[in-house]
Amino acid sequence: MLVLGYAVLTAVLVLLTYAMAILVLTLISIRRGRFYFPRLIKPGLIIVEGLLRSLWRALRLDDKELTSFAIRLRNQMNHGKFCNVPMERRAIFLPQCLRSAKCPADLTTEGLVCRRCMRCDIGKAIDQLEEDGRKVFIVPGSTFIKRMIKAYRPQAIVGVGCLLEVKEGLEMADGIDMVAMGVVTSKDGCVETTMEWEKLLEVVRLVPGDPLTTVSLAS
Ligand code: SF4
Repeated sequence: MLVLGYAVLTAVLVLLTYAMAILVLTLISIRRGRFYFPRLIKPGLIIVEGLLRSLWRALRLDDKELTSFAIRLRNQMNHGKFCNVPMERRAIFLPQCLRSAKCPADLTTEGLVCRRCMRCDIGKAIDQLEEDGRKVFIVPGSTFIKRMIKAYRPQAIVGVGCLLEVKEGLEMADGIDMVAMGVVTSKDGCVETTMEWEKLLEVVRLVPGDPLTTVSLAS
């Protein structure tokens, strides 16, 4: 019993030390705007996420900052692979909340199909997003992305959404070995949200050698 107690205590201490190390590395990375030991931080953010968030809150730090950092880190780590994927093998998933409340788009098995009525910015940007054979979907529901990945087998995806959606989307993509980049909307909400379209266009057009510079991809 005593041995078991020591083993549990040791495991807890190891986990706590690991979480503290990840916390310090994450904090330094955020403050200095650079990623230190990304290959160490990324699994850390996954394995001890709950503990890390508790420590983060205990230090009265903004939860959003940690989520935003996790997104930027994943984007940074996927950047090289993403650049190498041909344009026509990329798929872009837009959230339906970017549409106008008066959107006349039809709901089909391939998602909402924009009629380019120009009541929202999707209509203005969609032709550029679709350039070079990229596939663009307006997502009507949560299981849609996985279904389209299965149907179209893109080699890389770009997901747009609020902080939490993008974080969960990147985790989902990681889980199925899909190269993914996340772009966060500039206004949260369920209807008529907004985003920086230039930022999205910059991401979807990335080619080998392009740096991930002006795009923080999460704010
Ligand atoms: S431009 Fe497209 S997505 Fe926007 S409101 Fe019109 S049909 Fe809907």
